[in-house]
Amino acid sequence: MDLTHTPEEEEFRARLREWLAKMLPSLPAKPSPDDWPGRRAYDLGWQRMLHDAGYAGLHWPVDAGGQGATPTQHLIFLEETEKAGAPYVGANFVGLLHAGPTIAAEGTPEQRARWLPPVLRGEEVWCQGFSEPDAGSDLAALRTRAWRDGDDYVVSGSKIWTSHAEVADWCELLVRTDATAPKHRGISWLAMPMDAPGVTVRPLRTLAGSAEFAEVFLDEVRVPVANRVGAENDGWRVTMVTLSFERGTAFVGEVVACRRVLGELARTARKNGRWDDPALRRRLGTLNAEFRTLWRLTQWNVSESERTGGVPGAGGSVFKLRYSHARQELYDAAAEVLGPDALDQGREWTLDRLSSLSYTIAAGTSQIQHNIVAERILGLPKGR
Ligand SMILES: Cc1cc2nc3c(=O)[nH]c(=O)nc-3n(C[C@H](O)[C@H](O)[C@H](O)COP(=O)(O)OP(=O)(O)OC[C@H]3O[C@@H](n4cnc5c(N)ncnc54)[C@H](O)[C@@H]3O)c2cc1C
Repeated sequence: MDLTHTPEEEEFRARLREWLAKMLPSLPAKPSPDDWPGRRAYDLGWQRMLHDAGYAGLHWPVDAGGQGATPTQHLIFLEETEKAGAPYVGANFVGLLHAGPTIAAEGTPEQRARWLPPVLRGEEVWCQGFSEPDAGSDLAALRTRAWRDGDDYVVSGSKIWTSHAEVADWCELLVRTDATAPKHRGISWLAMPMDAPGVTVRPLRTLAGSAEFAEVFLDEVRVPVANRVGAENDGWRVTMVTLSFERGTAFVGEVVACRRVLGELARTARKNGRWDDPALRRRLGTLNAEFRTLWRLTQWNVSESERTGGVPGAGGSVFKLRYSHARQELYDAAAEVLGPDALDQGREWTLDRLSSLSYTIAAGTSQIQHNIVAERILGLPKGR
């Protein structure tokens, strides 16, 4: 892989930088972490700005409404937006980073036309209804049932840890459509409207105090059969596509953010005297090497996924595994650099630190990523 940039790519970077410098000052103030409707409006507003400027779905295929940009341009976009302190993808996370790409890869032309443009235009928010109380790591154990009634599925069951459920319009929902089939074979992937009768969302408070996710109860919810992506009972295969986007590409922009935080920590340590401690310098240096390596791995994974048809491979698990631990180590190091001053850094900082703990669980725990790396990349035998 060639990691040097062409003059066209540098020109793309320069244009983007100029646009960011012009647009970012016009953004409204960021809403408080607890103001979910405010956060939804803010995140969608930013998405609309990106759309109007031709930066929405930069790396999505053109026939899915995207810009068909090269993987390198996409990475330049992530780098520059993070460096400029542009808003994070936020409430648009599921729609832009994994439900949308799944529909682009697996949906019919009608499904793509219905669901992709509103995601890109910043009009609709998606959430992910995969996990259930007894189906997390063992996702195929899910029990939410769907049975056919005319042109609809009737869905009953419950989901848990559904991020952004409170403000979502659509849910990428996994349901069991054949209770008699082996567990991986009786699942279907549905797009469920969150305002359908029978959907109840009950917010859950996190360790950090915010109601970031929710339990979702489904009581005979009618979902049109036309909302099924992929064939009936072939949902496990579609799910693997969703998860490979989630693990493979969804977190990559955050690596740049972590590098920015690391730079800030080094500057603070120089000012407050902590830099004199060689153990701390070594710790920050190791993290710097780690994030640089992760960025290179990202470049490799993204360009490899383009070569193999746009769906990221199991290499995303290597990234997810290392990134989620490095993020925790970064916020541990931050606590050491800041010492008691950390308490004066405000709620956002505390939320970032506490939420870093969740990264080794969300999108599949580290143990599960280890299993995937062992079985699918190293070819080791299954443990059980
Ligand atoms: C911040 C956050 C946001 C989330 N958002 C969403 C969302 O929007 N939508 C959604 O559907 N889900 C979401 N989740 C749920 C997440 O996907 C699950 O928590 C995760 O898959 C783990 O499942 P579990 O919690 O049921 O743990 P379990 O599966 O019960 O695992 C418990 C422990 O056992 C280990 N373990 C289990 N099986 C094995 C095995 N075979 N080999 C080795 N170790 C094993 C696990 O690694 C873990 O340490 C979110 C979670 C978090 C933390």
